[in-house]
Order: sequence, then structure tokens, then C-alpha cells
Amino acid sequence: MPRFFLPKAEMCRGEILSLPAEMRHHLNTVLRMPVGAEIELLNGAGLIAGAVVLSDGMAEVQSVKRVAAAACAISLIQGLPKGDKLELVLQKGTELGVNRFLPTRMARSVGQLKAERQQKRLERWGKIIQAAACQCGQPHLPELQLSSSLDDSLALVAADFKLMLWEESARPLEQLLPKNQPRGVAVLVGPEGGISEEEAQRAQQAGFQPVSLGPRILRTETAGLAIVTILQYLYGDLAKGRCGSDAAPQERMSHEMP
Ligand code: SAH
Repeated sequence: MPRFFLPKAEMCRGEILSLPAEMRHHLNTVLRMPVGAEIELLNGAGLIAGAVVLSDGMAEVQSVKRVAAAACAISLIQGLPKGDKLELVLQKGTELGVNRFLPTRMARSVGQLKAERQQKRLERWGKIIQAAACQCGQPHLPELQLSSSLDDSLALVAADFKLMLWEESARPLEQLLPKNQPRGVAVLVGPEGGISEEEAQRAQQAGFQPVSLGPRILRTETAGLAIVTILQYLYGDLAKGRCGSDAAPQERMSHEMP
């Protein structure tokens, strides 16, 4: 079923919505959806509305469900990589369940982000996250915060398990993984040039534990996706089937009464 992002705080059963022009165009011209076709609308804050297409760019909401936020939120501080590599990280990271992206200029970041292009980039990155969230059915839109200071990004995350993937570390991941689900995880990944000694020290002072991801040096865009997959398997919803991790489906989703 086609899914669309509609950033509307509330939607209720029976409500008639006037769809935004871009969505109408997509429905009518690209997808050629007839009147009566079913669509899903995600508000990005956990609400999923099932709706039917009416005429003249309208839709009627037929069901509403709310999905709880992840019990173990994952924040990814990604050293700003070259070119459009970050786009891959944002798209795939969203699919895998990253809740917050903090692309951060680090000492060895090669890509320059000129101030005048910054806003455009942010808009583009936001759209990539939105499209990925829609495509994969992630009802909670991941946050995006670009930073030019590692210290700022380190201070912004309040997770109780913090990892720094460091190519210089010999510490195996299995020694660090908490037995129980942490309340939140933050991961720092360096850019192509890696993490400098000085940055590693600052990250450790901020509570990030250095860890190795094994004997092979992964590309920066691979490293974050690899650790997120592991964390989601252990503490998130990758191993839990379609219903999610933190509770049975009845508890996680409250369907609005007819
Ligand atoms: N230029 C560096 C590699 C950087 S790889 C070198 O040649 O040594 C980019 C980032 O991915 C690293 O900073 C780190 O955060 C992560 N990474 C890649 N492979 C890793 C590994 N085996 N263990 C831990 N972190 C790794």
C-alpha cells in the first residue's frame, strides 16, 4: 500500500483530509490511484492512519493506530564523509531503525560543507530520511542535527550506552555489550580519515567507550550500518518479527475505537 508522510499532529477516524498538492500529484499522476484506493499516512510521530482516496485530492481517514517509540533509541554521530556517502547512511540507517542522526564535521572530514550550501543539503537529507521512513514504514521520523563540532554532538546525546567505533581499538564488542537492554545507545563513527587521537580522548571523556569491529577496516558508511544492525538485533526489533520489541502488539498499538 502506498505510504505518505503527512506531518499532522492528530488524525481521527472519519476525518476528511485535503491532501497537499505534491501528494495529490503523486497519487493522481505518478501512481494513478483511483477513487476508493487505500493509502497509509504517517505523521512521523508514531501515528499511522489508513485512508481511502476520495475525489478532488481529498482522503477519508478510516483507521488510526499509534506505535510506541523505540524502547532503546539509537543515535548515530557520523563523521561527515565525502560526497554523497552520508545519503546512503541516512537512507539505510533509517531502514535499520536509527532514531537520530548527528552528521558531524570531524578533524579528518574531507568534505567541506560550505555555509551557503548547508541549508540545501539539510533539506535534501531531511527528504531522504522522510522517503526512507515512508518506504520502510517507520512511523517515527528520525531526527537530523548537523554539527560542525564534535563536542556539541557528544553533548547532545543522552544515551546510557555509548560506543566509539575506533579503528585503533583492540577491545572486542562482546566485552562491552550490556546484558540488558540499555535505555538508549549512541554510536560515534569517524569519517574516511578516521578518528584522531585527540578526538578519541574527548569522546572517551564524554563516556564513549572505544571498541573494535574486528580485523577488517570498514568504510565509514559500512561501519555505522554494521553496528546499528548488531544493536537492533540485540536490543531493538530486528529479531522480534513484525510486532516490535518492547511489548505484545496489543500493548504497543492502541487502535482507535470505531
Ligand atoms: N582511515 C582509517 C580508517 C577509517 S574507517 C584507517 O585507514 O585506519 C572510518 C571509520 O569507520 C573509523 O573511524 C571507525 O569509526 C569505523 N571503523 C571502520 N572499521 C572499523 C573497525 N574495524 N573497528 C572499529 N571501527 C571501525
